[in-house]
Amino acid sequence: MPPRRRSGSAGKLATYRAKRDFSRTAEPAGGTPPTADGARRFVVQRHRARRLHYDLRFEIDGVLASWAVPKGPTLDPNVRRAAFHVEDHPLEYFDFEGVIPAGEYGGGDVIVWDAGTWEPHKAGDPPDPARSVANGELHVEMHGEKLRGRFVLVRTRTDGSGKEEWLLLHKHDDFAVDGWDAEDHPQSVLSGRTNDDVKADPDRMWRSDVPAARASLSLKPASVGAASADELAALDRLDRAGDWAIFGRELRVTNLDKVLFDARKGEQPVTKRDLLRYAARIAPILAPYLTRRALNMHRYPNGAGTKGFWHKELPDHAPEWLPRWDNPEADPGETRTYLVVDEPAALVWAANFGALEWHAWTSMVDKPHQPTYALIDLDPGNTTSWDDLLVLARLHRTAFEHLDVLARPKITGRRGIQIWVPIVRGPDFDETRAWVEQLSKTVGAVVPELVSWKWQVRDRGGLARLDYTQNAINKTLVAPYSPRPAPGAPVSVPIGWDELDDPTLRPDKFTIRTVLPRLEEKGDLFAALLGADQRLPHLT
Ligand code: MN
Repeated sequence: MPPRRRSGSAGKLATYRAKRDFSRTAEPAGGTPPTADGARRFVVQRHRARRLHYDLRFEIDGVLASWAVPKGPTLDPNVRRAAFHVEDHPLEYFDFEGVIPAGEYGGGDVIVWDAGTWEPHKAGDPPDPARSVANGELHVEMHGEKLRGRFVLVRTRTDGSGKEEWLLLHKHDDFAVDGWDAEDHPQSVLSGRTNDDVKADPDRMWRSDVPAARASLSLKPASVGAASADELAALDRLDRAGDWAIFGRELRVTNLDKVLFDARKGEQPVTKRDLLRYAARIAPILAPYLTRRALNMHRYPNGAGTKGFWHKELPDHAPEWLPRWDNPEADPGETRTYLVVDEPAALVWAANFGALEWHAWTSMVDKPHQPTYALIDLDPGNTTSWDDLLVLARLHRTAFEHLDVLARPKITGRRGIQIWVPIVRGPDFDETRAWVEQLSKTVGAVVPELVSWKWQVRDRGGLARLDYTQNAINKTLVAPYSPRPAPGAPVSVPIGWDELDDPTLRPDKFTIRTVLPRLEEKGDLFAALLGADQRLPHLT
């Protein structure tokens, strides 16, 4: 192996990047500066992939020089461990603890088994650990929670394919412990959890399809802070356009005084500035329903009164920081790169882009064929009265009570009602669609005078349809708390089952001006759906 240049880490990560398929992006991975005090860090990750191993990683020249140690490091000075020099990893991987999707490079679970600082022990003048690694002998002094004292890594052989075998040993020093075995110390120094704990309830996933800077993705509802009063006031101070700092991002916002929604009677029209303010205020509440999901944007750049259109492909001019997902199954001509609202500023960006209506996929980007919701869409026909629709919704309420299935209704902001049923991932869309079809046909049979099963609207005789066909990949219903394109900017809002009996309920009752006070009063009525560990019962 040739000596490494001290400048630039890009070349060192070439192998890593090739394995992780960064080919679709030009953003360089790696590049986080060392710690502020200049200390070199190390991490040992216990990684259950095809085989259990410990990844020993030393921060050297802006990357993590890495060895896979099958039996783990030991403090026992009488034991030598085989270690395999593997590709450098980006610094962003330093504190990664979570899961790597099955089927991908390194698929499995990872904990931060030990971490701390280190220094070259048998240093040259000046110390050059990169050269030491290249020369096949690295002496280190480690200051971790588990690993302390002096260790030596020595290269023993390099096979024909360039694979390097090394030995790892601990010196006879004050920290040596006879009989010490890594497997007797199975807990993460980051969280106290074991690999089993992390696998059962991972906080993060390493996404191999994006640059390292955003590869560590939260799997938990984001505890996103609200937009501050200062940030909202800054929007109001802008003229018709300007740069707005929101959620730590700088957005170029335009046409702020343009009317996007005509006024409802007795109200002011709704401007783009009003929409952006709403997007910023609702984004932290909406985040758990959008993260990790592709977002289909329904755009109305000329206002809700004009014809809108679907916009799914993230445009080339979109800022680099926007989270995104490349659909690996996209055919030529189909949408390839989708916006993923993994941070609240991304929703504000979408609103500024003219997306008045937000439709997130019901599956997540890591398993796009496995929905996390089964959806029931009570779709009124033109002779369906609001009371008729309430009858249908209440019949579903009774069915879910009878089945002991957790589900929540929401009004659509237009004329309809939907029912969202959370499910643990597993069934594919064919299965959830069949389940919803069977449920709705059973319910619909109680009131045949209200329901048509005809495909075409004109064949339905004005009756309602219980639409199970939206349970399909890349078919979406409007997201909770999304505005709808109608005067006054009505919003699709989760409701309690008891509100079906509220005589003032209307499907477009709430607007972007009234949703936030309602949330303060009632809370997020969809919150119970988040993280629900529910399987759909067999219907007989
Ligand atoms: Mn590994």
